[in-house]
Amino acid sequence: MNIHEYQAKRLLQEYGVPVPRGYAAQNSREVETAISHLGDDMIVVKAQIHAGGRGKGTFTDGYKGGVKVVKDRAAALEAANHMLDNTLVTAQTGPEGRKVQTLYFTEACDIEHEYYLAIVLDRETAQSVIIASTEGGMDIEAVAEATPEKLIRVPISPTMGLRHHQCRRVAFALGFEGDQVKQFARILTGVYKMFWEKNAMLVEINPLVTTKSGQLMALDAKVSFDGNAIFQHPEIQQLRDLNEEDPKEIEASKHNLAYIALDGNIACMVNGAGLAMATMDIIQSFGGSPANFLDVGGGANEDQVTAAFKIILSDPNVKGILVNIFGGIMKCDVIANGIVAAAKNVDITVPLVVRLEGTNVEAGKKILRESGVALTPADSLVQAAEIIVEQVKAIS
Ligand code: GDP
Ligand code: MG
Repeated sequence: MNIHEYQAKRLLQEYGVPVPRGYAAQNSREVETAISHLGDDMIVVKAQIHAGGRGKGTFTDGYKGGVKVVKDRAAALEAANHMLDNTLVTAQTGPEGRKVQTLYFTEACDIEHEYYLAIVLDRETAQSVIIASTEGGMDIEAVAEATPEKLIRVPISPTMGLRHHQCRRVAFALGFEGDQVKQFARILTGVYKMFWEKNAMLVEINPLVTTKSGQLMALDAKVSFDGNAIFQHPEIQQLRDLNEEDPKEIEASKHNLAYIALDGNIACMVNGAGLAMATMDIIQSFGGSPANFLDVGGGANEDQVTAAFKIILSDPNVKGILVNIFGGIMKCDVIANGIVAAAKNVDITVPLVVRLEGTNVEAGKKILRESGVALTPADSLVQAAEIIVEQVKAIS
């Protein structure tokens, strides 16, 4: 789960990380209030969307920049009028862009230098890792590509936690001296504490800046939380902004379905995350491309299967469906009844291939055969994938 910059900065502030004073606003009345809280001096106006690269972004009406440093309140109001309810396209949003429904107004600061600092979960080493660089502000992926030696990586042991010598090591590698080493250590300690306590997968500050007066400060922040741990943090759950999420994924979560939209055209309905991954892989290996990950879970009922079909079919890219169910706890006849009921409820307009295996498989196949629902049965996963890929190729 992702949150907005202004929410991330509030959290960071709770963990002792200095951030510029700022106010969020969602309509013109709130915009006026927010601006009135700031001095009639340099103000930064920032579009709040769950995507980076806003500074270099362009709105669909041609207005340039989702982050504007302006000279006074009047200019801030003018920038706000351009941005609010306008659609911002950045390198991360895709060409359709994102509608800006929240703005953030902050005090501007005199930047001396922009750094990059993040703590991220590294799945390969199963540890969190500090990533830092003197080349902040810009696209960190570009830095990693062009000048990988400018990225400092320091793993943090999950049993020992962040050690003070590690803070100093990173501070020195970034070239800090004297009091700035202390400031940096405080910031890194706060970032790690927040990362750990809130079950984050990423806390990224880009840029972390030094000001002309020598202060370190977080000017931008991105935080992602582990969705599977979010139930432990109702205060984080409250920060969820449904405007920023795929409506199909929101609908799926209401029905307790694990669904993630992808950009292919073969929809998958599978029970079990491992089987879902295997199904996506095999579609790919036959030259197809999965439209989603969908795990209906071990005990899906008819309603869930129906909801799953509706969600799948609401994606205009879907040109075929592969249902792959292994009946363990879930019985094949139950899922077959679910498919038949769903087919009566939802107009399935694309090829449908169903592979059932496991408990009560014969009963399940019989139900499908006698239902009159237009589908192609398959006996193995390989066969199922081969058929659906062929059928989708034939129509597109
Ligand atoms: P992003 O483009 O989505 O990553 O948005 P950022 O919040 O990182 O802002 C982009 C850039 O705007 C930063 O790298 C800074 O160079 C600049 N910027 C942001 N806040 C300030 C500020 O308070 N003062 C000045 N002078 N520049 C700022
Ligand atoms: Mg940034």
